[in-house]
Amino acid sequence: MNGQEWSEVSKKLETEQKETLEEISHLREALKNEVDSDPDEGDPDLGEREKLLALLRTLEEKNESLSHALRLVDEGTYGICESCGRQINPARLEALPYTAFCLECKALMEKGVGARPAGQPVF
Ligand SMILES: [Zn+2]
Repeated sequence: MNGQEWSEVSKKLETEQKETLEEISHLREALKNEVDSDPDEGDPDLGEREKLLALLRTLEEKNESLSHALRLVDEGTYGICESCGRQINPARLEALPYTAFCLECKALMEKGVGARPAGQPVF
C-alpha cells in the first residue's frame, strides 16, 4: 500500500471505531435504564437484556480489534494475516477492515482448529 492508502485505511478504522464506541455507550445507557425500571416486576425482558449484553460484548471485541488494527497500521504490518503471515485478500479487508486474519485461517479457527491465543482479535 502507498502512503495515501495507509492514511485512508487509518481514517476508515478511526471512523469505524468512533461509531463503535458511540454504539457501546448507547447500549450501556439502554442497559442501565433497563436495570433502573421496575425492579419489582421480576425481569420480563430478560431475553432483551441478554440480547443487549451479547451485542455489547460483540461491539467491545470489535472495538479491540479496531484498536489492534490501528496499531498494525502504525507498525506498517496491517493487512497481513497474524496467523500465517500472508497478505489478506483486499476484498476481505474492504468488507472487514479490522480483521487480523485471512479467510483461510479464520475458517480454520471457526472450525476450532488452531484456536486463537487469548487476547487476540476475533475478527
Ligand atoms: Zn492466514
